[in-house]
Amino acid sequence: AAVFLGGMEFRRWEESLPAGGGDAALEEREEIKQVALTFDDGPSGACTEALLDGLRERNVKATFFVIGMYAEQYPDIIRRMAQEGHVIGNHTYHHVQLSRLSDQQAQEELEMTNELIEDITGQQPIFARPPFGSWNKKKEFPADLIPVLWNVDPLDWKTYQTDTVVSRIMNNVEDGDIILLHDSYPTSVEAALRTIDMLREEGYVFVTVDELMFG
Ligand code: ZN
Repeated sequence: AAVFLGGMEFRRWEESLPAGGGDAALEEREEIKQVALTFDDGPSGACTEALLDGLRERNVKATFFVIGMYAEQYPDIIRRMAQEGHVIGNHTYHHVQLSRLSDQQAQEELEMTNELIEDITGQQPIFARPPFGSWNKKKEFPADLIPVLWNVDPLDWKTYQTDTVVSRIMNNVEDGDIILLHDSYPTSVEAALRTIDMLREEGYVFVTVDELMFG
């Protein structure tokens, strides 16, 4: 599957390998399956730190699309994400549907959050996940951000059942996928950590969104 990113399709790296790269190299690469875990709507004062603990124990890096107003409330959690090697993306300041806003309002929602994250971590985000996957697709994405959608959506915010979330991911995941979860529910945190252990058994490695896109 190709992942839609800001008007361009990026294909899995296998498909873009140069011809005649050597069979041995190709075989070796084909054995590596990559997946990116992404967490939206945090940071959550109740759940995010438990997730960060579990990711650290497993030495897994993830991508967090944070809401500006929560980042402002929990700067220490944002700082910890950055220090521990996770990628922080922009999920707007108020969790708004960008396509319903004027261009200027949409820009402000994203810029306010960019500035906030830069104040806390020293780095501006490169990626955004538009809430509800929605923005004005006829125009450039605001604030120079690259929009990142997802391939696997277990609807963890609807079912608070760890087992259901785990099996939905395990039944749908493929090499190169981006998994959507939310670090706002204990069941999602539990499901994420259990999924990591199971996918590792199947030979997956965990990458951040930038590693998946840019190699
Ligand atoms: Zn969201």
